[in-house]
Amino acid sequence: MSAEMKSQQPILIAKDVTKRFGELQVLHGVDLTIERGEVVCIIGPSGSGKSTLLRSLAFLDRYDEGSVHINGRLLGYRETAGKRILASRKDISETRRSVGMVFQHFNLWPHMTALGNVSAALRTVLKLTRAEAEKRAMEALQKVGMAHKAVSYPSMLSGGQKQRVGIARALAMRPEVIFYDEPTSALDPELVGEVLGTMKQLASEGMTMAIVTHEMGFAAKVASRVIFMDAGRIVEQGHPNDLFSKPQSGRLKAFLASWQERQL
Ligand code: ADP
Ligand code: MG
Repeated sequence: MSAEMKSQQPILIAKDVTKRFGELQVLHGVDLTIERGEVVCIIGPSGSGKSTLLRSLAFLDRYDEGSVHINGRLLGYRETAGKRILASRKDISETRRSVGMVFQHFNLWPHMTALGNVSAALRTVLKLTRAEAEKRAMEALQKVGMAHKAVSYPSMLSGGQKQRVGIARALAMRPEVIFYDEPTSALDPELVGEVLGTMKQLASEGMTMAIVTHEMGFAAKVASRVIFMDAGRIVEQGHPNDLFSKPQSGRLKAFLASWQERQL
């Protein structure tokens, strides 16, 4: 595919994605397209399937039905003679290479420095030399304001600093889109701002992002689109100005009202 064609098609197209855990159906046919440069914030009550959606879109959870295409490539499955079979690990890893992930609990290796954490996948997955990997990792740490802590271990870092290392780790792989699952939910309130600030800066530089968050202020300011999920479905979506000021569904109205109550 030419670079020009690639730049025009959406990064991600999910169609009719369903997911069950045993008897429990968690996603009921979700359609979602993410265009380049979009910042999509996903909000909704606890248990509504936000994490499962994000994980399914990256194939960390196997979706059951429907499809997820990344840069035009089906993620997770292969279709042969009208039948669908699980793709190879290699194929899955190649298809999702353009997706970076940032988790609520950082998922840093405790026995590695910040630099080690950020450069590990550059060496094991991208097969860069140590020197190349560390150079690239330092650039990513610089970007999130953490270059001065490159040789620190996670135990020496604050939660906000750990999460910025988590973001650097994603960035260093040069993804085309970064998924964040509640990146600030595990942080003390005074540390939330530095992480949101880093994310806001990336957004202003045109990074494509999908963010599950309870930070409504951030979503209102930074999102180009907000998606409201409830009970495994996208109930409503739109520009934050419209969605927050003119919620259509009773469920979103109730969700926003309960959020407002908690701010008092
Ligand atoms: P959210 O992120 O919106 O809080 P989740 O996607 O984590 O929601 O969960 C949606 C539903 O799926 C919940 O009922 C949850 O208990 C269930 N669930 C999530 N992960 C698993 C799992 N690995 N096994 C079984 N049930 C799960
Ligand atoms: Mg969740």
